[in-house]
Amino acid sequence: MAERTRIIEGTWNCTSCETRNILARHRSCPSCNNPREETGQESEFDFGEVDDTTGKSLREGVTDEKALSAANAGADWFCDYCSASNRGDSPICRNCRAERSSTSRALAEEPEEPIEAPRSRRPPPAPPPSAQGSGRKWLYVGLSLLTVFGSCMYWGSRTHGVTGQVTTTEWTRTVHRETFQRVSREGWRSDLSVRSSRMPVNGTGEVAGVDNIRSCFPRQRGTRQVADGTERVCTTKTRQEQCGTTEKCTRKKMSNGYMKETCRDVAKYCSKSYQDCDMRTRYRSEPIYDVSCTYDTFVWQPVDKKVESDRDCAPRWPALEPGPLDRLRREEKYAVRIGYEDGDTKEHVHEPRSETEFLAWKKGQSVPLQVNNFGSAQIVAGDAVR
Ligand SMILES: [Zn+2]
Ligand SMILES: [Zn+2]
Repeated sequence: MAERTRIIEGTWNCTSCETRNILARHRSCPSCNNPREETGQESEFDFGEVDDTTGKSLREGVTDEKALSAANAGADWFCDYCSASNRGDSPICRNCRAERSSTSRALAEEPEEPIEAPRSRRPPPAPPPSAQGSGRKWLYVGLSLLTVFGSCMYWGSRTHGVTGQVTTTEWTRTVHRETFQRVSREGWRSDLSVRSSRMPVNGTGEVAGVDNIRSCFPRQRGTRQVADGTERVCTTKTRQEQCGTTEKCTRKKMSNGYMKETCRDVAKYCSKSYQDCDMRTRYRSEPIYDVSCTYDTFVWQPVDKKVESDRDCAPRWPALEPGPLDRLRREEKYAVRIGYEDGDTKEHVHEPRSETEFLAWKKGQSVPLQVNNFGSAQIVAGDAVR
């Protein structure tokens, strides 16, 4: 890549007569003949605007011998006696003929300016577009919802104490009678093996068994995925591709009113979409057959039940007599209704798990409760709950 260099001439402003934009080649003001000095920013040169994307100066470069020679003379120095600026390669002051001394001040060398404006910098492998921005937004939304929910929960869980009274105690008891009965079932022949059954004694010790396997025929048991050729699957993706070149320029001030500009052509990258295609295996669904049979076995079948319920008294079991191949299954359910005043009359229903716990509750007894702001009550653990 070829490099192109240009010398750009700066301008300065006279502080004695207010003349502006004097070309650097003039070491004295063309209007008032005041020599350029270091003070009053007279030797801080303006090099004009640069192009935002290329960093290239908008000024024309200088090409005449005299200007190029001045540019290459090194940093300016200032006379100790008359303060006039002088060429870096001149040993005596052009204004008062005094010799340059070791203490004479010179314009400081300046570092090279960056190759391009930072905001137009783009590295060749651009990162894929990420969803991080929107993801973060949703994170904030989620967090604030959580905060609102949390404060609500905190307010709702605040409790206050009230005293309730047992208004009624209720029980419901059910006895199911089940009998061990022969039934016909269907099953996969591969899962079945003949096994003799055994009848229960006092409702236990039974074996269901498998017997009289018959009427076998094939039936669909499921499906499987089988490979069925290939298919071409394409997705549109984007990548960074070089698309020609672009000019990038650096600038170096030469501390004498001139600036050296170096421009190069660098690769330019553009976002291009392309099809990313793959051959993938195609699948189809295929039925799986197996042999299904009818067989005999025994199961517990519900044949009868008796329910009894009452309130404010001790629970009792409904009477049901089991036959020789029967068993009984018992279910019990208890409820203690506690009334309390909290704004208006409310009720909390407590469900004891056992008869012992149920019997500890008596109609009319006082119960300390904790009620939260959502309106749900809890019995205060202590003597009342047993
Ligand atoms: Zn002037
Ligand atoms: Zn001098």
